[in-house]
Amino acid sequence: MTSVCPFVKPSRPDDGSSRKPGECPDKHVSEHEGGGKEKKESVGESATVSPKCPFGYDSQTFKLGPHSCMICQALLFDCSKCVPCSHVYCKVCISRFKDCPLCGADIEKIEADTDLQSVVDRFIDGHARIKRSHVDVDKEVEVGENKKVIYEDVSLERGAFLVQQAMRAFRAQNVESARSRLSLCAEDIRGQIETAGNTSELCSQLGAVLGMLGDCCRAMGDAGSSVTYFQESVEFLSKLPAADLEIMHTLSVSLNKIGDLKYYDEDLEAARSYYIRSLNVRRDAIKHHPNVSSQTLDVAVSLAKVADVDRTMGNEDAALDRFREAIKLLGSLTLKPEEAGLEQRRLSVLEFLNNQLAEKQSG
Ligand SMILES: [Zn+2]
Ligand SMILES: [Zn+2]
Repeated sequence: MTSVCPFVKPSRPDDGSSRKPGECPDKHVSEHEGGGKEKKESVGESATVSPKCPFGYDSQTFKLGPHSCMICQALLFDCSKCVPCSHVYCKVCISRFKDCPLCGADIEKIEADTDLQSVVDRFIDGHARIKRSHVDVDKEVEVGENKKVIYEDVSLERGAFLVQQAMRAFRAQNVESARSRLSLCAEDIRGQIETAGNTSELCSQLGAVLGMLGDCCRAMGDAGSSVTYFQESVEFLSKLPAADLEIMHTLSVSLNKIGDLKYYDEDLEAARSYYIRSLNVRRDAIKHHPNVSSQTLDVAVSLAKVADVDRTMGNEDAALDRFREAIKLLGSLTLKPEEAGLEQRRLSVLEFLNNQLAEKQSG
């Protein structure tokens, strides 16, 4: 799963709104506070109090709270209590242990804790609510020297919060928990689309969340649902302008993932057509952004995927052409010193491509 939250991204050129959901209010807060300290004499200016959730579930300073599982570090899902020590974890998480990770006691059995789970579920509803558009007028309190103190809403925008929890759970292999949070998030966005229409922001968020749901299903071995989610993801991302690199990347990745699933399913024709669509999206993106190295790498990877399936289908000449085109692309790609990560990827893709050519010549 991608580590990029679709709710926390740099502003896009087509994006007119001044404040994106998920953008952390702390950023603005600290600027205000700094200014306030320097200009003590000015009367009537406002100072903003940094939002703090008493449980530590803030956007920036996220800590483990009483509703978190110590193992996956996300909010409890399917709460389960160890007997006899009474420590609580997600069911999936604690099932992998024989002794309690917190106190070391032998686990005799695990009991569902539905009361605590309903507290957690209410917490999700109450804490992570759809944020109002003007959080900064939440509450104003007059203090000395006529200085207004504005208390900001402590809740993260609900989508960002759910995705954050899902990503933690997914990393800890609690895929069911991740899937549940993401489903809720997708439902929210669908609701917003119903009222606001297919805005590019909502479509890109939903496309990314649906892609993550596809990853969850794939990790759970449910290839059928996985394909359905990726296809839906593609459907929403295809509505967006091809000039947006980040969205086009997500779109092409979703297309490749469907291709992979079809490939494993031995449906080579279908696999090839999805790989081709991904390749075309990437070629298109490169036209808009010819100087972005990661795009060139993406195109080379797509060429390799199409070539590989071409070879498996017996179209050896077409395969060789694409392998060579990819090698040429990567050979002419010069990376900046700060792009060391990309350089490593470039070399490993190049090695793969050269091996593919060599395989032909020796065979
Ligand atoms: Zn857990
Ligand atoms: Zn314990």
